[in-house]
Amino acid sequence: MSRPRRISRPHAPHFSYTHPLAEAATRRCKTEHPLYRSGKNKVACGRCWEAVIRADALLAADVQLPQHPPAFDPKLVDQVAVDRAMNGEAPAPNLTPTERDMAVRKLRDQGLKRSEIALRLSVSKSIVDRALAERSERPPPVLSIAAA
Ligand SMILES: [Zn+2]
Repeated sequence: MSRPRRISRPHAPHFSYTHPLAEAATRRCKTEHPLYRSGKNKVACGRCWEAVIRADALLAADVQLPQHPPAFDPKLVDQVAVDRAMNGEAPAPNLTPTERDMAVRKLRDQGLKRSEIALRLSVSKSIVDRALAERSERPPPVLSIAAA
């Protein structure tokens, strides 16, 4: 007499809501396994996690994204964000202090007054003064974007 085969638990919880793909996994699981989402702290079942993680990896490989994005470096400059801020585009990009200082100096080099720079970048004049008072005006490394 054979022992009844133990059923594996395909619906045990896996990653948490903090996982970058949690929303996609939950969306898929709600559709594919509507009965799964009965308990608390359940994001998605293992099958759905595997499906979205595989799909994400395939997409990343397809568009040749790096497997792990580079770590955030506050000294790097997003040149596009700086240019958008300098042009006064809305919505105003969130600049790091390094980027903001660069935008201030570039606008000064274009001949703008301090009050004009403050207005353009939506910052206070004291921030402009601080950026222009910095002793080291060495340009920071620019974030390079791979050419398509
Ligand atoms: Zn599922």
